[in-house]
Amino acid sequence: TKLFAESYFVERNIKWIKRAGVKKVDENKIYFETLDGEYQEQAYDFAMLIPGFAGHGFKAYDKTGQDISSKLFAANGLMKVDADYSQKPFEEWSVNDWPQTYQNPSYSNIFAPGIAFAPPHSISKPMVSKNGTPIFATAPRTGMPSGVMGKVTAENIISWIKTGNPEIKHKASMGKMGAACIVSAGYGMTKGTAATMTVSPVVPDWDKFPDWGRDINTTMGEPGLAGHWLKWAMHYMFLYKAKGKPFWWLIPE
Ligand SMILES: Cc1cc2nc3c(=O)[nH]c(=O)nc-3n(C[C@H](O)[C@H](O)[C@H](O)COP(=O)(O)OP(=O)(O)OC[C@H]3O[C@@H](n4cnc5c(N)ncnc54)[C@H](O)[C@@H]3O)c2cc1C
Repeated sequence: TKLFAESYFVERNIKWIKRAGVKKVDENKIYFETLDGEYQEQAYDFAMLIPGFAGHGFKAYDKTGQDISSKLFAANGLMKVDADYSQKPFEEWSVNDWPQTYQNPSYSNIFAPGIAFAPPHSISKPMVSKNGTPIFATAPRTGMPSGVMGKVTAENIISWIKTGNPEIKHKASMGKMGAACIVSAGYGMTKGTAATMTVSPVVPDWDKFPDWGRDINTTMGEPGLAGHWLKWAMHYMFLYKAKGKPFWWLIPE
């Protein structure tokens, strides 16, 4: 992604600042702190700020009116599932920390697949500025893993309803599944472009793949026009699937 992002920026004459966290935005300026602990400003005329990744901030109450929010939601508002939320140093993180069934540990009839579950920690190494401000990317969660998690959750619920047995057989951990993602960077059948990438597994497994954390044979990426065509075709495929038209189930997540 470093290569794609930087080459797309260079081609479009865009300069970038990285390893920085935004503190404040006003009408004309963005105020940010770098990992070196410097406070800097950037004037802007167009900006898109992606907010901190968090849940809705719902409160939950049980039948007796008791607040059960902390049983259902992590501090960031996302739902607690079968992940290992114990606070561990980066060196002890493992793929086994990542959830597989997306079932809430306190309420077995509540599931949170896809974007809704609280990740156990970030995927990339957490960085802290010289002033102690945490500055690092949140765990990215894209469409394909969300689709796969949604599918196994649906299969588990169907089996539970049909058999009456609450056994959760189907599993999908981001530490075991691979995923593909296409990042659009220009529209048009001849001038369009997109970066197409696959990663396997989504969460690096340093025990299984000590060199890179990922299977290097199935982790790859390429920017170009073909990626745009692929994404364009997928828009139609996924809408077809969402409508449940004949043979919809042949289309993968
Ligand atoms: C701008 C943008 C671009 C993206 N681009 C890509 C991309 O190119 N490739 C990729 O792989 N991923 C991409 N993603 C990520 C991808 O869209 C998400 O990972 C994926 O949609 C998550 O799926 P989900 O089913 O978990 O949640 P969602 O798709 O968010 O579905 C949740 C649904 O729940 C509904 N809902 C919410 N609250 C309630 C309620 N109280 N009652 C009933 N319904 C409710 C919402 O309306 C929504 O339809 C992008 C995300 C964004 C925001």
